[in-house]
Amino acid sequence: MNILDFRSDTVTKPTQEMRDFMAKAPVGDDVFGDDPTVNELEALGASIFGMEAALFCSSGTMTNQIAINVHTNPGDEVICHEEAHIYRYEGGGIARNSGASVRFIRGNNGRIDPSQIIDNINPDDQHYPRTTLVSIEDTANRGGGYCYDFEVIQEISKICKANNLAFHLDGARVFNALELTKIDPVLYGQQFDSISVCLSKGLGAPVGSLLIGKKEFISEARRVRKVFGGGMRQAGIIAAGGIYALKNNVQRLAIDHANAKRIENMLASKEWIKEVLPVQTNIVVAHVADGINELDLVTELRELGILCVGFGKGRVRFTTHLDVSSEMIDALEGRLPNQLSR
Ligand SMILES: *Cc1c(COP(=O)(O)O)cnc(C)c1O
Repeated sequence: MNILDFRSDTVTKPTQEMRDFMAKAPVGDDVFGDDPTVNELEALGASIFGMEAALFCSSGTMTNQIAINVHTNPGDEVICHEEAHIYRYEGGGIARNSGASVRFIRGNNGRIDPSQIIDNINPDDQHYPRTTLVSIEDTANRGGGYCYDFEVIQEISKICKANNLAFHLDGARVFNALELTKIDPVLYGQQFDSISVCLSKGLGAPVGSLLIGKKEFISEARRVRKVFGGGMRQAGIIAAGGIYALKNNVQRLAIDHANAKRIENMLASKEWIKEVLPVQTNIVVAHVADGINELDLVTELRELGILCVGFGKGRVRFTTHLDVSSEMIDALEGRLPNQLSR
């Protein structure tokens, strides 16, 4: 039985065309600035968002953590959603790498509201940590792949400027957001001081993320990347996968969104599912029916050749991506049980 893998959009494997492109990439020592393929990827990433410069890193955790490190000083405070990846899934890096603390915001589907930001900026008083950075996620992973309305992002950007705060985007899936909202990436990019983009999720590259921002910010970020042990040498081999991904795999994201919609509809009809969050992009989050343990459900589906993940108490997540075909969605329809056996 072929396995239908919906665990994450990180499971994509490079296609033969991408591998061929990577194999032929010219390379050099990137710490000396000599790798033409890394340089090309960085220039391409920056130009997509109309920004000055970019830095190629090994992961989205690294690009986020470098951004936090450059934007803050020890003792500062970062405003983010309580379920933000930068806090929940990066090993406590905000405290560990940068000595900064976090002010949580609760918000609907992983998104925060401009008024909540205003309420959580500390006054200039010796008792409080200095608020210096606001970070948002678009799309919001824990929120179920939800996107921000562009007007909200513009408003947050204005608040940040007025209060002298840096504004960071954890844009691991920013191209999924832009596919849905159709906002011009250059106009979108202007709202932020820094953007982190994953090349290794739905875009299908095997490794890597880009940190994008102003020249001065990126040159500081390059120093921090070295300190974190992230300076790479002939990295053009993997950067080429990123170039291929940006040139070939952005336009097709609508397919992933349509496939996710189909999964939403299938799950909604099952009595072992209580509710499915309405799908916006490539993530489907479903609440299991009362009395069912989500991890038991994950196990039972695995036995049927369907992989998904538990997503916190009572929730499961399915993700669509480059390696999920419409035939696999057809197969899923045939395999999803009407009733659970346990
Ligand atoms: C995947 C992801 C990241 C980065 O993860 P890495 O595995 O370190 O590349 C950052 N933010 C969000 C929202 C993500 O989903």
